[in-house]
Amino acid sequence: MKENDNAFYACEYAERRDEEDPLKNYQKDFYMKQGTIYLDGNSLGLLSVRAERSLLELLDSWKQFGIDGWTQGHYPWFYLSEDLGKKMAPLVGGKEKELIVTGSTTTNLHQLVSAFYEPQGQRTKILADELNFPSDIYALKSQLKLKGYEPDNHLIQVKSRDGQTLQEKDIIAAMTEDVALILLPAVLYRSGQILDMKLLTEEAHKRGIVIGFDLCHSIGSIPHELHDWGVDFAFWCTYKHLNGGPGSVGALFVHEKHFGKEPGLAGWFSSKKEKQFDMKHELEHAEDAGAFQIGTPHVLSIAPLIGALSYFEEIGIEKIREKSLQLTNYMKELLEAELSDFDFVIQSPKEDAVRGGHLYLEHPEAARICKALKAENIIPDFRAPQGIRLAPVALYNSFKDVWRSVQILKDIMVEERYKKYKNERDVVA
Ligand SMILES: *Cc1c(COP(=O)(O)O)cnc(C)c1O
Repeated sequence: MKENDNAFYACEYAERRDEEDPLKNYQKDFYMKQGTIYLDGNSLGLLSVRAERSLLELLDSWKQFGIDGWTQGHYPWFYLSEDLGKKMAPLVGGKEKELIVTGSTTTNLHQLVSAFYEPQGQRTKILADELNFPSDIYALKSQLKLKGYEPDNHLIQVKSRDGQTLQEKDIIAAMTEDVALILLPAVLYRSGQILDMKLLTEEAHKRGIVIGFDLCHSIGSIPHELHDWGVDFAFWCTYKHLNGGPGSVGALFVHEKHFGKEPGLAGWFSSKKEKQFDMKHELEHAEDAGAFQIGTPHVLSIAPLIGALSYFEEIGIEKIREKSLQLTNYMKELLEAELSDFDFVIQSPKEDAVRGGHLYLEHPEAARICKALKAENIIPDFRAPQGIRLAPVALYNSFKDVWRSVQILKDIMVEERYKKYKNERDVVA
């Protein structure tokens, strides 16, 4: 218990924290169903009134302008990818032209690796890790095959010592002379560990290796300094902490020092904007991150981002990070105090500096505990075989949400209500 202080564990404490919360007024902007506590913003962020409005505005621009919507209206479609890249730049610590909103996580990975993976002589391998999200690993293997290499001996996956986290020194030790490119997550999707991107970039560059990061779980959740750290490239989705909606268009970063580089997978949207409609068969690709676009942007899947990003612009990522840490720390302390009898293991790093925006717990009955939580309108995120991710999100979750979720989880455990359900995952988990 905390300093024998029962007040800390009481609902009134959560309510007081909520009153003092400088971001409290944003909660009403997000569509959280009455009576539901949504803790799955690390998988799919919630719809906000501003995102809804910008989506409807772009739908209306199609109605109003037809083809002329590309250049007319409030948000001319032809420039959206660049304009939103600029708006996102502060979230990654990039310069405006280093970002472009395009593609998806996996297609952007393919695009960037096909440009940045340049095997030469003995330097032919790709270095990744064994804890990354499967899509990234599938894509890296297919990139190796496309260049004529066998993934079995050309993809090196740094091992985790504890099955949850990675140690930077193990990654650095694997940066050998045969490695051409490194791809790592910024925040691990299960444990939520933040990797030291600055250190890893420095060490990679000392050895002449190109390095890129997948920011899916860090974007909108923690600050980055990609430009200053010298990161070569990065990419991310926008439907998790950025709240862009299911399948919203992703984004990428290419460091200024690589401007002029040829896209690996070219298309007419790789063009310099003013040349695109010359319709020549010789591509004059953009010099900046814009070169890494391929085809026509999915305008209606970009549209919600206009509204969704405005919150980040208005508040700033530092304040969002501050509240996020307060929420995850509060949740961790409550879980430790209230659920110590029930075999939960918190596998997220304890120190704030290396923990992203969610907590990760393991329990042998995780699948059915998640089903019981959902039945009681607490929305967690199950990761097979025994993981539960809980993301109290700064923009729309309250301290009271955290308090109530832990109380309900405790009741489910005490009364064994999870036993009503099968301990298996659903199709989408
Ligand atoms: C969410 C996520 C993805 C998803 O990729 P999509 O192409 O958007 O489906 C990929 N990698 C990581 C690390 C993720 O967290």
